[in-house]
Amino acid sequence: MSLPYDAPVSQTLFDRASLVTPGGVNSPVRAFKAVGGTPRFMVSGTGPYLTDADGREYVDLVCSWGPMILGHAHPEVIAAVQEAVARGTSFGTPGEGEVALAEEIVDRIAPVEQVRLVSSGTEATMSAIRLARGFTGRAKVIKFAGCYHGHVDALLAAAGSGLATFALPDTPGVTGAQAGDTIVLPYNDLDAVHAAFHAHPGEIACVITEASPGNMGVVPPGEGFNAGLKAACAKNGALYISDEVMTGFRTSKAGWYGVDGVAPDLLTFGKVMGGGFPAAAFGGRKDVMEHLAPVGPVYQAGTLSGNPVATAAGLAQLRLLDDAAYEKVNAVSAEIQGLFTEALTKEGVAHRLQTASNMFSVFFTSDEVRNYEDARKQESFRFTAFFHSMLSQGVYLPPSAFESYFVSTAHDAQAVERIAAALPAAARAAAEATA
Ligand code: PLP
Repeated sequence: MSLPYDAPVSQTLFDRASLVTPGGVNSPVRAFKAVGGTPRFMVSGTGPYLTDADGREYVDLVCSWGPMILGHAHPEVIAAVQEAVARGTSFGTPGEGEVALAEEIVDRIAPVEQVRLVSSGTEATMSAIRLARGFTGRAKVIKFAGCYHGHVDALLAAAGSGLATFALPDTPGVTGAQAGDTIVLPYNDLDAVHAAFHAHPGEIACVITEASPGNMGVVPPGEGFNAGLKAACAKNGALYISDEVMTGFRTSKAGWYGVDGVAPDLLTFGKVMGGGFPAAAFGGRKDVMEHLAPVGPVYQAGTLSGNPVATAAGLAQLRLLDDAAYEKVNAVSAEIQGLFTEALTKEGVAHRLQTASNMFSVFFTSDEVRNYEDARKQESFRFTAFFHSMLSQGVYLPPSAFESYFVSTAHDAQAVERIAAALPAAARAAAEATA
């Protein structure tokens, strides 16, 4: 596909980066591999906008993959960071900021009685799985195809659907032993979950699921699915782990738990709670959390866990996220979703907009997407054309057809107008695209 524009400064930076970093990026999806072209090197962000190294401005519909729910460089978050950083950047001791952030999380989410801070979502899910295994004395873990829980060895096994398929590692470097205790099931299929428990009595430590998946595009849980998982876990002595790294503090004040009210045994958090810094957490039932060192025998630690600058940013962001903020971000998301539907419908492009509160994504198929297999049936080549048209008109979408789009409270009428102006040509490009 020939691209209608270029980005010479980003290209030069990408060439330099590719010499010293594999693929020129520090996280694979940033590389534009799925859509082609040169990844944009961003130099600054303000409110709903990002500016790249070539001086072009974009309306940002990625928001750093979720964290920037107040927009970029929110003055109160920046002030909190400046105040914290001036007092020192890391002490390796406890500090009040960590306590305040933990209290904020516990106050917002009833099933979280205790919480431990870590530095990334991957660390949170890895630690939650270890804790579940240590608590139950069991080895096996159920996860769902299409759910991403970070690059934890045991959870990178996403292959195979159908009944209680034992997973093969999805990536070289993950051994059969690391993935062999992972059972991968199709999402939204409670029968498969019951069958797996039946096939492995007394062996399953936990079920981990994205609270409402966003990593195969937005595929919300069907009616009763999360409640069914909780009931199956309770009946079989396993823990129900809800991964809220993406949905936590984004889909409501209490994350997805605030939407469906199903109380997990353990929850994991990241993204929004760090205010753009590396801060994440896992928490839940006190009797389970007390199995962690130094109280209990399950070891878990981190040099930068509860870092004072990261906790100051996270706390400042969470304190600004009141009911009015969620109303605002939900409303602007609904408005933008309406614009996408209108433009694609007008051009006769088969599509399906799926939403989970203010998270949404566009699937280029007319069928409902209930799991990963459905998601993969979409016409991704239409997304590629759509993506590049939007990018060339100054709207930055996630560079993959299998991602959630994110908005912020800073997406104002002017930003929405820019999206509206770009959509007709992008929808036409999607309509005209060929495989
Ligand atoms: N869990 C979910 C649901 C995620 O979306 C992600 C990242 O996108 C992770 C875990 C991993 O988080 P991190 O990238 O901070 O390691």
